[in-house]
Amino acid sequence: MIKYYSPAEINEIRTSAQLVSKTLGLIASLIEPGISTLELDRVAEEFIRDHGAKPAFKGFQGFPNTLCMSRNEEVVHGIPSDKPLENGDVVSVDCGVKLNGYYGDHAYTFVVGEVNFQILKLLRVTKECLDIGINNAVHGNAMGDIAFNIQQHAESHGYGVVRELVGHGVGRNLHEEPQVPNYGKKGKGLRLREGMVLAIEPMINMGTQNIIQLKDGWTIVTVDKKPSAHFEHNVAVMNGKADVLSTFAFVEEALIKKGSVVI
Ligand code: MG
Ligand code: MG
Repeated sequence: MIKYYSPAEINEIRTSAQLVSKTLGLIASLIEPGISTLELDRVAEEFIRDHGAKPAFKGFQGFPNTLCMSRNEEVVHGIPSDKPLENGDVVSVDCGVKLNGYYGDHAYTFVVGEVNFQILKLLRVTKECLDIGINNAVHGNAMGDIAFNIQQHAESHGYGVVRELVGHGVGRNLHEEPQVPNYGKKGKGLRLREGMVLAIEPMINMGTQNIIQLKDGWTIVTVDKKPSAHFEHNVAVMNGKADVLSTFAFVEEALIKKGSVVI
């Protein structure tokens, strides 16, 4: 069943989404060659708990950590480890919190040190895919309008669009209906209506769209081992527009302060 949220509830979801945004901002300030994803995970968990919230992923269907940290050919659902990050890595950091009964869930793909031009382009195009999806999240549009436009933009650059994993509704639950695919047909599928809150999250591969799950039962990787990127925002369909409840402003502020590249 799809939930339609009131403006007051949407503001609660915004508060949760913004705590995720601040957590990602903190990660942005710390991410560099030599630090491990497990260290970053600990910092994120402490920050979330200090703000009176709970990490939403920890324990969710048995996931062991606060952050999903997916490096290079890992698409999503990577488990933090004590292996240090290396110059030239890209790492998708996906974070969820539960605060006052409402969830926020979003993600940013970071570069570690310096990466090559092809990887920067993959990240830029994936972030553009997210923006394109958001711009289509308006009352009266179809889910297929989000999906088709994301797919078309990614494929116009020769990239693979992951099929098996999709975005979702978010609010009272971390994952709820409807599904928000990153591929589809214009005008097809569910009609978007005021009060829907969506987690839009294109997962775009530099090479093949095909993925497999590792034996750890979580980590999704590209079959051809080429890198993958992932950006996610939480968006309410409100007042005839897409109201983005999360923000990358804290991430961007931290990256600028460090002199790092902003995607
Ligand atoms: Mg997420
Ligand atoms: Mg999500």
